[in-house]
Amino acid sequence: RNFLKSTLAIAALAIAGTAGLPSLAQAQDKGPIAISMPTKSSARWIADGSNMVKYFKEKGYKTDLQYADDDIPNQLAQIENMVTKGSKVLVIAAIDGTTLSDVLQKAADKGVKVIAYDRLIKGSKNVDYYATFDNFQVGVLQAQSIEKALDLKSGKGPFNIELFGGSPDDNNAFFFYNGAMSVLEPYIKSGKLVVRSKQMGMDKVGTLRWDGAVAQSRMDNLLSAYYTKDRVDAVLSPYDGLSIGILSSLKGVGYGTPQQPMPVVSGQDAEVPSVKSILRKEQTSTVFKDTRELAKVTVAMVDAMLAGKTPEVNDTKTYNNGVKVVPSYLLKPVSVDVTNWKPVLVDSGYYKESQIK
Ligand code: BGC
Repeated sequence: RNFLKSTLAIAALAIAGTAGLPSLAQAQDKGPIAISMPTKSSARWIADGSNMVKYFKEKGYKTDLQYADDDIPNQLAQIENMVTKGSKVLVIAAIDGTTLSDVLQKAADKGVKVIAYDRLIKGSKNVDYYATFDNFQVGVLQAQSIEKALDLKSGKGPFNIELFGGSPDDNNAFFFYNGAMSVLEPYIKSGKLVVRSKQMGMDKVGTLRWDGAVAQSRMDNLLSAYYTKDRVDAVLSPYDGLSIGILSSLKGVGYGTPQQPMPVVSGQDAEVPSVKSILRKEQTSTVFKDTRELAKVTVAMVDAMLAGKTPEVNDTKTYNNGVKVVPSYLLKPVSVDVTNWKPVLVDSGYYKESQIK
């Protein structure tokens, strides 16, 4: 029997020692990791979810991935259920970053760790880490693509611009807007950029739930109220789904012809319809955020936490959620336009060329 025991022990050690395989003790503990994503209506969140499942699996974790259809009570119920089912960690991209305090308290009472994924969770002390992109920089890149396309740096202008913001219940929307305004404001002050509608500030330009149809109808209203005689030269749009709505509104009143070219329109997420639109010279730019990298950072955070180690972060001052500054890992966003879509999106393996062309 002793011989058998030691043979088994050696076999176990051999398995545990094999590269990449978890030790037997760990294997029993691995998960489930709960992943709560906001919606499937945008391709990026689908990619985030499936990348995380893949990388967690590679490290031996079980996952429980759920999408909440952009419905706040639905997301709450899903998270509550995940806690009840015994998840060890919650990875959450919140629909509304302020609505989760109660369920996170329940989670904390059970020792469940919480990672805010891409979007900050606000008003709760029970958020351990935040994995995201440099959201202020996203806005800077959006505005810089407008600055470049209009050649504002060499003193050109005045040009007419209209501003769109993201969902006011998403903390990121303010970072995108403030980042963009850090570039655009001096031009607005000097009169080189003119906001004819005078609609400025997130309270005026926000787009609830990042809804493209809402952006489209706001653009319709702006065009009929302020641009029957004048041309709109640029539109700050914080997300590809809004850009598509804005562009179809513009097409509806005759933009997009050689006589009346499209204004400069920014975006975010490098979603396929927008990359195609960039190649058609409709949308001007987008901002690529590699969801594979965000998923990897998140998986590494979870893995470290569960091993009792301190996850790597690179920012400990920016993201105050109202109760605490949440230690964060910020990835770099990349501006994409007609000149660099191929190296950034295709050569990196994010898309196949056939998906775009
Ligand atoms: C994300 C963006 C995305 C937006 C709409 C934000 O929180 O950071 O990448 O465009 O939500 O889904």
